[in-house]
Amino acid sequence: MTTVGILGGGQLARMMALAGAPLGVRFLVMDSAADACAGQFAPMVVGDYRDHAALTEFASRVDVATFDFENVPAESARWLSGRIDVYPNPHALAIAQDRLAEKTLFGELGIPVPPFAAVDSLQSLEAAVARIGLPAILKTRRLGYDGKGQFRIRSRSDVAGAWAALGAQAPRVGLILEGFVHFERELSVVAVRSRSGEFRAWPVTENWHVDGVLSASLAPAQVDEAIAQQAVAHAERLASALDYVGVFALELFLRDGSLLANELAPRVHNSGHWTIEGSETSQFENHLRAVLGRPLGDTRMRGIACMLNWVGELPEADAVLGEPGGHWHDYGKSPRDGRKVGHATLCADDAALLGNPLRRVGQRLGREEQVAPVIERLGG
Ligand code: AMP
Repeated sequence: MTTVGILGGGQLARMMALAGAPLGVRFLVMDSAADACAGQFAPMVVGDYRDHAALTEFASRVDVATFDFENVPAESARWLSGRIDVYPNPHALAIAQDRLAEKTLFGELGIPVPPFAAVDSLQSLEAAVARIGLPAILKTRRLGYDGKGQFRIRSRSDVAGAWAALGAQAPRVGLILEGFVHFERELSVVAVRSRSGEFRAWPVTENWHVDGVLSASLAPAQVDEAIAQQAVAHAERLASALDYVGVFALELFLRDGSLLANELAPRVHNSGHWTIEGSETSQFENHLRAVLGRPLGDTRMRGIACMLNWVGELPEADAVLGEPGGHWHDYGKSPRDGRKVGHATLCADDAALLGNPLRRVGQRLGREEQVAPVIERLGG
């Protein structure tokens, strides 16, 4: 029996373990928190990702290692890869951990990006603002996620405040200034690449964020076929360049009919949760198939799907379970402000049939604002 080790024990590891059960795969999860929610479905090693004793134990009990969390120290991933197979490879992980390295790679591969510049002092921030223009966003290069570690600079008078907010972190995590993109849509490509280099993408997804956190996803994105094909082509070029194995997401902005790449997430992704019920093979199953060197599953969709994220606390499940295409995911976490505690997916045969269930769920849960942009996109 094969054991997959997962570094990080959050909801992504939990959904991976659920997807792996029918394949006969065992799991071992490593996390620094003993109450990590994947631990409800898989044995755990509790330890710091830098602790070699904990990593040694983890490595001795698994056949292959992967991640539910991209901020596992790249040195630890490299250390592990000297002992067991690690997918995605530590180089790909290291690039995706650093916004500057990933944007530089996108540029080298001909994938358009917003203007950006490295920042390491107030003077270099001022120079970057002069070059890139305003509005712009100052971000930490490493360890940022869900809009954390970001400061929006609207006018020159915000520059000192931005440096005061993030400057102290510059020596540890680095900073990057990015031009603010007045996008029409946010899109993501969730895709998988196998050990032998086979590449498959799910239909492109449109995403809506609130306060930097994903709120809703719609797949397939209602965009021109040419845009969707270009997004997938960018993802394929990136995956080949990194010799990537497993599932990843490429987040993109659509502005004036053109795509700009925002970031690469080197793992299964929140914008791909709809694939569990909405596609032939889920992102979680295909990630496992890829890292285990098994044939990849079909990424074809069945109809249309909308995912709603539950952040902070779970609403009442029955409003979703009462819908014919409604599916519920409770991550088994205690409620906390800003924490992703679950999601729902609503599936329908076509766009015309998705609006009404979404409207009903929005009303019953008092989440009209959350579903409104999706309903509008569906033409309702
Ligand atoms: P990130 O952590 O880079 O994915 O950023 C979180 C969210 O902030 C994105 O999904 C966007 O909604 C927004 N955002 C990030 N970077 C930019 C940008 N350069 N221009 C406009 N919005 C951005």
